[in-house]
Amino acid sequence: MAFLGDGGLVFLVVVFAQMMPLQKLAFEKGLTVRVEPHSGRITLSDGRHKAVLALGSSMALFDGKVVRLSGAVRRDAEGIVVPKETALLFRRSENQKKTPKRKFVVVLDAGHGGRFTGAVANALVEKDINLDVVLRVWRLLKDEEDVKLILTRRTDVELDRNWSRDLDARVDVANRANADLFVSVHFNATAGHKTNVSGIEVYVAREEEDVARRLWRALTEAGGSLTRLGELAAAPTSDTAWILHRMLLEEKFRHSLEAARCFVQALRKNDEDSVRGIFARGYRVVKWTRCPAVLLELGYITHPATAQRLKTARYRQKLAELVAEGIKEYIRRRRTEQEQQKSQHTLPSSPSTKGERR
Ligand SMILES: [Zn+2]
Repeated sequence: MAFLGDGGLVFLVVVFAQMMPLQKLAFEKGLTVRVEPHSGRITLSDGRHKAVLALGSSMALFDGKVVRLSGAVRRDAEGIVVPKETALLFRRSENQKKTPKRKFVVVLDAGHGGRFTGAVANALVEKDINLDVVLRVWRLLKDEEDVKLILTRRTDVELDRNWSRDLDARVDVANRANADLFVSVHFNATAGHKTNVSGIEVYVAREEEDVARRLWRALTEAGGSLTRLGELAAAPTSDTAWILHRMLLEEKFRHSLEAARCFVQALRKNDEDSVRGIFARGYRVVKWTRCPAVLLELGYITHPATAQRLKTARYRQKLAELVAEGIKEYIRRRRTEQEQQKSQHTLPSSPSTKGERR
């Protein structure tokens, strides 16, 4: 990159990432490697953790979460080379083998709060029932030994007086905590307060181009504090890099969808309200979190019968129990998946690079 300085001088800024051959990394860390030649997708696993890299991209996924590397994965004379700090991802997991299993971090977000009321109808204020249900979920799960719960708020407060920054702050809570699941709790209202619509909806974010750009910017701005992974490098220039980023983000989408299915499965047990389904929409809190994320609309407060039920602690407790069940089911599935990866993994005597063609 060339920048024109104040005095008319041209400064050249070149950022070199320290690279290492993928084969060497795989051998040193005992990783199984899968390279898909057509998509350029590279999957690394030590049997416990999985990293997904993409040729031409410096974004990677580690256990389903986006991390940023100091340089793009590329192919050179030695074969595929990756930024050296990729090894740190797996060194971290080596340490974890000696320590107890990492807790599954769930961020519970009670929508709105403080100056932001959310929907208001039938003498119900959305921010209050959001918080009530979240606190009930928290009470139900707080003693689960391998789950760590983080609440974006515990009282009637906004996270920022600015609406947009308030939403960003919720995303930041999840990203800073390196969360494994983000669950935002809301109640719905119809436009014009029509009273004939009822039902529960589960939302996930569809990963679009702007999500990739936004995540990229978030990672660039936060730098080491977010990724703890080395120096920052220049932004990618080619369109293919963006396509690869999208591919990586699709993995977050897949996990979010799986979480959504767990909630639907649980919430279908509610015989007092129906589940309308899973919807993909670009709600910010689910879009910009690095971890899998869902937003629950647990019923329409504009629907008179639903509103009446929501005024009872009994019904709010029932909803909380179903939400807690959905969370537990998702954790169970992810843990099972990890166990399966672990049992399938055999330490290779030499680096295996299945599917790679030279
Ligand atoms: Zn809301």
